Amino acid sequence: MTDAKLPPLREVIARYGLNASKALGQNFLFDGQLLARIAAVPGDLSDEEVLEVGPGPGGLTRALLAAGARVTAIERDHRCIPALAELGDHYPGRLRVIEGDALAVDAPSLFAGRPHIVSNLPYNVGTALLVGWLTASWQPWWASCTLMFQKEVADRIVASAGDDAYGRLAVLSQWRSTARIAMPVHRSAFTPPPKVMSAVVHIVPAAAPDGVEVRVLERLTAAAFGQRRKMLRQSLKGVPGALAALERIGIDPTRRAETVSVAEFVALARAVGIAPDG
Ligand code: SAM
Repeated sequence: MTDAKLPPLREVIARYGLNASKALGQNFLFDGQLLARIAAVPGDLSDEEVLEVGPGPGGLTRALLAAGARVTAIERDHRCIPALAELGDHYPGRLRVIEGDALAVDAPSLFAGRPHIVSNLPYNVGTALLVGWLTASWQPWWASCTLMFQKEVADRIVASAGDDAYGRLAVLSQWRSTARIAMPVHRSAFTPPPKVMSAVVHIVPAAAPDGVEVRVLERLTAAAFGQRRKMLRQSLKGVPGALAALERIGIDPTRRAETVSVAEFVALARAVGIAPDG
């Protein structure tokens, strides 16, 4: 629930002149109940640290603060900073706002512990941010990710082998974490409404499998899904050691990447071993 003493978000938008900018991927959420449901996805946030990318006028930020979180928010649009400062005044010491580009800010250095990441992400940078968070060192610096994506991207994150949406993003998202769609979100929930539907994805890190280098996995999935309709013996030809590894672990080289499960990619990366080019 949002705090009754706070002005309505639409009033904040009007007062600070926060007309939605397409270039900044601005599609705002105003529905307090929906925002509270998103803030509840990571579980009890009382006194937990949360990183929010792109707070905008602060709708989701309000819900996170109301849930008891201590929020660090990175926002690129300087027009939003005074509106967020006003919100911070309602929750003294609980909201830290950093003006900047989330792709350039060293987020891990902002936290002593492991924050939950909760964001209605700008669509143009969402996938790049997620891939960065997934491929950094493990155990990761974050405790969980609750992220809004276009439905099509959410489907790619949670897809299984054989699904149309299955590819590199599914393997990177699932080889050492669990990923699920927490809730679909209709396009009409946003102002302005985007052209496509959205969904909130929840990602929780797990133990990394032994003997698997993320660089090797990335190289294998790039090669295999770069030519997803080709047989593995063709698409993996350029990855040193990959064809011998396929044979060693008994994966039929006439299969295509889209049929190879996350667990099989993990086994393949382990069999290839250390990245051949150092
Ligand atoms: N959280 C708000 C909500 O749910 O209503 C706004 C979400 S809007 C989809 C995305 C927000 O991310 C905008 O406020 C935009 O200015 C901000 N943004 C866009 N690119 C960014 C970047 N590279 N770094 C940080 N914030 C960014």
